[in-house]
Amino acid sequence: MKLEEAIQEIKRRTDLAQVIGQTVKLRKNGSHYVGLCPFHGEKSPSFNVRPDRGYFKCFGCGASGDVFEFLQKTTGQLFIDIVKRLASEHGIEIEQTYKPRVNPAVADSLASMQSMFRQQLKGEALSYLTRQRKYSTDFIDKMELGYGGAVSGLFQGRITIPIKNHRGQLVAFGGRIFNDSEKSRPKYVNSAASELYDKGHVLYGLFESLPLIKTQKRVVLVEGYFDVMALLAVGIPAVAPCGTSLTEGHLELIHKYTDQVVLCFDQDSAGHLAHEKALLMFLSKGFSVQTVVLPAKDPDTLWQNGQAQTLKDLFAKPKDAIENRIELALQESVGGVHQRIGALQALMPVLSASPDPLVNRQYVRLAAHMLKEDEGLLVGAVLKYRPGSVKRAPARATAAPATRTPWSDAEKLLYKAVIAAPALVLNHPDILEDVGLNPELKAVLTALVQGENLLDITLPEVQLGEILVSGEEAEKIFLGWSDKVAREKRQIWLKEQHLKLMSATNQGNLDEVRQTLKDQSGALKKGWT
Ligand code: ZN
Repeated sequence: MKLEEAIQEIKRRTDLAQVIGQTVKLRKNGSHYVGLCPFHGEKSPSFNVRPDRGYFKCFGCGASGDVFEFLQKTTGQLFIDIVKRLASEHGIEIEQTYKPRVNPAVADSLASMQSMFRQQLKGEALSYLTRQRKYSTDFIDKMELGYGGAVSGLFQGRITIPIKNHRGQLVAFGGRIFNDSEKSRPKYVNSAASELYDKGHVLYGLFESLPLIKTQKRVVLVEGYFDVMALLAVGIPAVAPCGTSLTEGHLELIHKYTDQVVLCFDQDSAGHLAHEKALLMFLSKGFSVQTVVLPAKDPDTLWQNGQAQTLKDLFAKPKDAIENRIELALQESVGGVHQRIGALQALMPVLSASPDPLVNRQYVRLAAHMLKEDEGLLVGAVLKYRPGSVKRAPARATAAPATRTPWSDAEKLLYKAVIAAPALVLNHPDILEDVGLNPELKAVLTALVQGENLLDITLPEVQLGEILVSGEEAEKIFLGWSDKVAREKRQIWLKEQHLKLMSATNQGNLDEVRQTLKDQSGALKKGWT
């Protein structure tokens, strides 16, 4: 059956009262049902369900729709995933344009392992979860945790954690030893990759977090399964890669549901490295990234120490990840010039990571402010690190390379000074009087003298080489150019005067000769030599 037909068929076959009845307590009232609306807080029921017509409507908040909308709103799942799930429940086959990836035998074997693991969770293993890990039995049931008994192979003697894909399909297991004094085996194991389980495209906790992502519009990225559980236990949506580093596939998966991510990595050097890498990956895909720095190793540690409220408070106020990173650069830059340079250079990738130059620009501004660094200098450094990353508009395509006037080394140095200290150009408008100045450079200088912001000007692409100039050096460069322009002007003027004098002498016009000499000495007295 085609997808459109399947959607109609699902609607026809679905008993809306039965589906909604799983989340909302409904009472029959003639041909319709009423209950308390799940989408707004209310004490008297204004939520109506019409199974005969296949829609629901709340007269309190206006929420309405069909079975798909109800499930999208309450589960956070994608429309297409809900269609697929309901289709399989009703035995409807949707025509696939691609080969189905799921081998039913693999899925069946995972399902039977899961029911075995669930049955085996009792005694010591269960009390480990309830006492040491402080999870309620409700929560353990919700997360479907289990235990690998004597004949469970890889998972023997381990707490089992079912790993689902974003559609809620069981694809693998994680296993953790529950006796921490056990040193002979690895603490964690994972199912091997299979046709169902591609580690680069599965995130633990994503499916379980979907309803929370839907309402909170964000997700927390953590390192471990139990960190995910600690956060879910306090109502915060969280995901973790399954024994692998973060991939582009993981980012694409998260992007389906939200573009806001909160990073919370272990407070150790490996965690810091992973944090930096994740930050750059998320920024480059246009995510808004926040971070939470914990007063303990990880969320799981806080949860186990009974600090659930601390967890909630910290995640209620995450910090902007770039701002946090700039603060780190500030701490790293104490101690000397080399530390300062190193910290600034390490910051460049973060300040230029966003695909939106406007975003980068705001953070360059913030960095300049927080680090008390010249903004122009930072813009120059960022442009050099990743040209175009802080521009407002894409590079202008007018000046074709063939028609461009070549830049002299002196002009390149002047350009560096302009980028380093654009504000100082205002003190040297005379540079514009240089008749031989490169026209592209002249356009930049003219715009600055007219009061435009460097960041708003379309800057010419010029190879500037390695060395950047400081604000102090920039001032010297401007003064040098002012002097040069003044010298050239004087040369031109002297030449004119000389010609005048020659012609007056040749004509025997003594009045003109006298007047010219007077002008010259006047000019000389005013400091023209
Ligand atoms: Zn309502």
